[in-house]
Amino acid sequence: MNIEDATQVYLATIPPDVMAASKAYTTGGYWLDLWALAASVAVTLILMRWGVLARMRDRIQRSGPRPAFTALIVGAVFMGLSWVLELPWTIYAEWCRERAYNLTQQSFGDWIGQSALNAVVLMVLGGFFLMGLYALIRRAGKRWWMWGGGFAFVSILFGLLIGPVFIEPLFNDFTPIPEGPVKDAIVALAKDSGVPTDRIFVYDGSRQRSVLTANVSGFAGTMRIAVSDVALKEATLPEVRAVVAHEIGHFVSGDVLKMVATLSVLAMIGFFLVERMFARLVAWFGAPSITSISDPAGVPVLIMAIGAWLLLCQPIRNTLTRSFEAGADAYSLKVAREPDGLATALLKTAEYRDPTPHPIAEMLFHSHPSVANRIRMGMAWKAKNMASADTASTPNN
Ligand SMILES: [Zn+2]
Repeated sequence: MNIEDATQVYLATIPPDVMAASKAYTTGGYWLDLWALAASVAVTLILMRWGVLARMRDRIQRSGPRPAFTALIVGAVFMGLSWVLELPWTIYAEWCRERAYNLTQQSFGDWIGQSALNAVVLMVLGGFFLMGLYALIRRAGKRWWMWGGGFAFVSILFGLLIGPVFIEPLFNDFTPIPEGPVKDAIVALAKDSGVPTDRIFVYDGSRQRSVLTANVSGFAGTMRIAVSDVALKEATLPEVRAVVAHEIGHFVSGDVLKMVATLSVLAMIGFFLVERMFARLVAWFGAPSITSISDPAGVPVLIMAIGAWLLLCQPIRNTLTRSFEAGADAYSLKVAREPDGLATALLKTAEYRDPTPHPIAEMLFHSHPSVANRIRMGMAWKAKNMASADTASTPNN
C-alpha cells in the first residue's frame, strides 16, 4: 500500500464546495481571534471611561473597607457587563457566522439563552477567582504574580473537577448510553485501557453542533466518558471506536494536567508583565482614579492584558496541543486498530477545519495537526501494522 496515495484518495472525497467553505471558514477564524481582542480593548475602554466599577467599589466600601467582598462583587459585575457590551460581537462570531457556514442548526433564542447562562456561570466562578487573585495581590505585594501562577493552576483544576458534574449538565442532557453495539464497543475500549466503564454517557451535542465528538473528563470520582448523540445517529462503528479511543488516549496520557501546568506558567508570566505595565496601561485607558493594581476597579485592564498575552502565546499552546493530538491518534491506532475509521471520522471535521492548511498557518494557528497529516499518519500505521490482512492465509507471527 502506498501511504501517500491512500491519503490522497481519502482527501479527494471532500467535495470542492465543502473544501472551499472550509478554507474560508478557517482563514476567517485566524482573524477572528484578533478581532475578539479588539472587541475586548473596546469594552475595556468603555468600562474605564464610564467609571461604573470605580463607583461601585466606592459604594460597597462606604461603610468601611471590605476588600474581599468588593473584589467579588466588582469582579462578578465586570463579567456580566463584559458579556452585555460584547454581545453584538459574540452574536456575529458565535451565532451568525456559524449559521452562515451551516455549522449549527441552533435557533437564536436557544443560543442566546445558553450564552446568558454561560455568562451567569462566569459571573459566579470568575467573581470568586478574582476575589482570590485580589487577596493575593493585597497580601503578597509585588511578588503576587508568583502565587498567582499557582492559584491559576488550582483554579483551573477545580473547574475541571466540577465541570462534568455541575456545569456541563446546565448546557446539555447527559443520559447513560443505551445498550447496543456502540455501548459494547466503548466498554471494550475502556476495559482495554483500564478506564472505569460504569460512567459512559451520551449527550445531545447536536443541539449546538452536529459533529461526531466524544470526551473523557473529570478526575477520580467525577471521571466519565461522554459521546455526542451524533455517534449513535450518523457515525459508523469503526468511526466511534477510533474517536473514543483517541479521547481515552488523551485521558490516560495525562495531557490535561500538562496543559493546565503550561497554562499556569504562561499565566504567571502574564501576571508578571501586567504587574510591570499596569500603571502605563491604566493611564492609556484614561482612568486616573485607579492608582494601584490591587484596586478591583482596574479589573478590565488586568483581564484584557492577560487575554492579549495568552493570544500572543497561542502558537506555543497550539504546538503543545498538536503534539498531544498526534499522541492521542497514535494511541487510538494502537488500541482501536481503526485507521480507516479514524480517517473517515477526521474527514467529517473538514467542514469546520481546513484539512490542508499551509504548513506555517498550521504551525501558528492550528490546535490540531491537519487532517491530511493525521490521515497520513494513520495510513503509515496501517501499512506497517495491518499489511498482513492482505495475506491472511499466510501464517504470521
Ligand atoms: Zn484530541
